[in-house]
Amino acid sequence: MDILTKIKQANLVGRGGASFPTALKWEAVKQADSLAKYVVINAAEGEPGVKKDGYILEHYADRVVDGARLAVEYLGATRCYLFINPKYYEVYRPRIMKAVKAAKLEKKFGFFVKPHQAGYIGGEETAILNALEGKKIEPRLKPPFPTINGLWDEPTLINNVETLYNVSLVDKGEFHNERFYTINGAVKKKGVYAFPADWTIEKVLRQSGNYPNFPFFVQVGGDASGDVLNQKQLKVPASGAASITVYDFKKHDSAKLLRYWLKFFQAESCGQCTPCREGTYRLNRILEKKKVDWKMFQAILTDLSETSFCALGASVPVPIWSYFKNILNNKNVSL
Ligand code: SF4
Repeated sequence: MDILTKIKQANLVGRGGASFPTALKWEAVKQADSLAKYVVINAAEGEPGVKKDGYILEHYADRVVDGARLAVEYLGATRCYLFINPKYYEVYRPRIMKAVKAAKLEKKFGFFVKPHQAGYIGGEETAILNALEGKKIEPRLKPPFPTINGLWDEPTLINNVETLYNVSLVDKGEFHNERFYTINGAVKKKGVYAFPADWTIEKVLRQSGNYPNFPFFVQVGGDASGDVLNQKQLKVPASGAASITVYDFKKHDSAKLLRYWLKFFQAESCGQCTPCREGTYRLNRILEKKKVDWKMFQAILTDLSETSFCALGASVPVPIWSYFKNILNNKNVSL
């Protein structure tokens, strides 16, 4: 049985956050008619609160490289690049190179360290392509998708570290649909845990010994762009990149939290499109005023949601709206 059939049977989905079926990406690149094809491993990991890819590179670099080798061989790829967070490169380079040698992938393998200025958006797949091509690091318009028109306009498979780790497990018949959860915040045992992908947030917190004994709420899928949920909403699996950050309801500071999210998004906006570049700036200015114009605040968030060029801008309202709705019961914050 070939690797694509195995991936299909395993129902593997991408672990970078979007949960896109892995087999569809692989199939699209395989079927593309081109002499040159590329594989890119996304190890950019820049969302605050998400540490799983670093953990996987620390403990299972051989598996990640094995998954990349399977992709290179199956697709007949010309070259494979590991686009990597500089901190991870510094620490894990030796063990990754050891795995590359063991997989006999040296001739096709290359590191590309995420430039400092790439920031958060440097992890978006088309921004990665721009970085690799030496262009300005900002997202490209999709479609065309990278599977058809990727690196240097050639078909390109971009898979997250955890996805390729799972491809290796699938190939060896060892895949049990687990995923890596990063648990942060007001908990006793912060860390990265492997549990079944269909476990609820509540179960993950309990089984990891992190279920709080005080009133709390969580942010799931990233400390910047993730959804905010109250204690009654935890009977669902973790979304996005599966991080779970716990906040102490009584001790947390609403104004500080809102400002943290908005400062982050303003700093990380690549500036390519007006709604995100101007919108994140305006939202921060509104919060500086003594009398906050909540109507304008909400209107700008709606604009960001509806007109941003990429997912970064569109995700600005996600934590804020869910926090207002699920934690504040739609009351405004006094700043
Ligand atoms: S939404 Fe923000 S990050 Fe995305 S392209 Fe527009 S300015 Fe850049």
